[in-house]
Formats: sequence, C-alpha cells, structure tokens
Amino acid sequence: MKLLEGKTALVTGASRGIGRAIALRYAEQGANVAFTYLSSVEKGEALVAELEAFGVKAVGYRSDAADFAAATELVDGIVKEFGSLDIIVNNAGITRDGLLMRMSEEDWDQIMRVNLKSVFNVVKAATRTLMKQRSGSIINMSSVIGVVGNAGQANYAASKAGIIGFTKSVAIELGSRGVRSNAIAPGFIQTDMTDELSDKVKAEIEAKIPMKTLGEGNDIADACVFLGSDMSKYITGQVLQVDGGMFT
Ligand code: NAD
Repeated sequence: MKLLEGKTALVTGASRGIGRAIALRYAEQGANVAFTYLSSVEKGEALVAELEAFGVKAVGYRSDAADFAAATELVDGIVKEFGSLDIIVNNAGITRDGLLMRMSEEDWDQIMRVNLKSVFNVVKAATRTLMKQRSGSIINMSSVIGVVGNAGQANYAASKAGIIGFTKSVAIELGSRGVRSNAIAPGFIQTDMTDELSDKVKAEIEAKIPMKTLGEGNDIADACVFLGSDMSKYITGQVLQVDGGMFT
C-alpha cells in the first residue's frame, strides 16, 4: 500500500540533499510532487524526470524561499496546476556559521530570511487553501541545533528554534480546521551541508552519537512520509528528533 496516494506535496529546496530524498520518497509513496529549487535548472529538470518515473505528476518551480511575494505566486500556481495542496515540507535552509564575535549583521539577516521567514512565507500563502480544504500536513525542517544550541551557529540555532515556536503556534491555530503542523529536528545527516565538515570533526560527531553513525537523507524522508500521511493524523505541534539518539 502506498501511504501518500492521491496527495499533492510541496517540498522546498529539493534539488539536492534531504529535500531531494524527501521528494523521491514522496513520489515512491504515490504523492504528486511540486518542488522548488534555487539555481540549477538542469538539476530541477532531472529531478522532475526521476519523480515522473514513479508514475506521479511532478513540477519543479524555480523560487527563492526567502521571497514573500514569490511564495504566494508559488502556492497559487501549485493549487491551480495540481488542484490541491495536502502536504507542505519547508525544507530549504542554509548555514552561515561563525562565532558571535565575528558574525556580521548580514550573516544573521540572511539566515533569518532563508531559514525562518521562508517558513512563514509558504505557510501564510497556503493557510487559506488548507483551511478551506479542512485538511493538510505542514512539516517544517528544524534541527537539533535549534533545540540544544551550538557554538558558532547562534544565527542558525535561533532560526531553527524559531521554526519550532512557529510550528507549535500554527498547530494550535489551525488544529480545529483539520490542519496539522509538525517539525522535524534532524541530527547530523550526510549531505553537502555536512560534507563541509572535516573528517576529524565528523569522527568526533560520530563518537557522540549513540547509534555511532551519521544519518542519511532517507532517514529524514521516512519521517516526512509518516508525518505527511494519515498514519500521523492525531499528531500535531510536535518536534520529531531524528538524530540517532544524539540528544535525548
Ligand atoms: P543542502 O545544502 O544539501 O540543501 C539545501 C537545499 O535548500 C538546496 O537544495 C538549496 O538549493 C536549497 N535552498 C537554499 N536556499 C534556498 C532558497 N533561498 N530558496 C530555495 N531553496 C533554497 O542541505 P541539507 O543538508 O539537505 O538540509 C536541508 C534542510 O535540513 C535544511 O533546512 C537544514 O537546515 C536542515 N538540516 C540539515 C542537517 C544536516 O545534517 N544535513 C541537520 C539538521 C537540519
């Protein structure tokens, strides 16, 4: 049985990494997939073909998650093209690491725009549609760093903690309309984002993880399938840590 048959999902920032894994898992589970990417048209087109191979409808939109007007255009375009919007995964995110002493105002603002305001942009743009449908699952990509903090990531941690507060508030506001809102807090997942870490740092991180290994994009994608599907129909306002037990 496919868990997402007949549903339409939007995944932001899906050209690579965790977002790409989510888009592919969603298509495998029968969802029609709209996704966004920022720069590479070729990667976007290649992903459309990979998703369509699962027999679902797939459309890639070049759209900057930090742009409020673009989010409204995006959501309206998806509803017109697909007829509904059932699952939203706000995955797009970046890092601009540095100790507070050296962190510039631009480093702070850019992280807030791309990681936090982007979530507001898409959810705000979709709220009317979701409320009218009286159903929907919003999944916002936080991070364990947003739960526990990290030296050199004050901006990133604040943006990811902000996502948790936003997620819980939306769950309370929209629960009576059948719309759920949850966050996923990944630990260290093997992607381009973590490939920037040195082997030494990676080994140190692995030593601290009870399961002794970094996670994979599919570990997060599987959690997104669960939270997007009706198997989690009574779960809202929660933060699901997918971190190999790193922070318990
Ligand atoms: P990644 O850098 O591999 O991919 C990020 C994606 O977001 C890319 O496709 C990129 O094009 C897109 N993106 C960036 N800025 C964008 C913008 N303004 N508009 C639209 N798309 C944009 O990162 P990843 O590791 O796959 O991370 C995905 C999400 O998971 C992020 O929100 C990240 O903070 C979160 N996360 C990752 C880890 C990890 O260990 N990799 C851990 C915790 C949380």
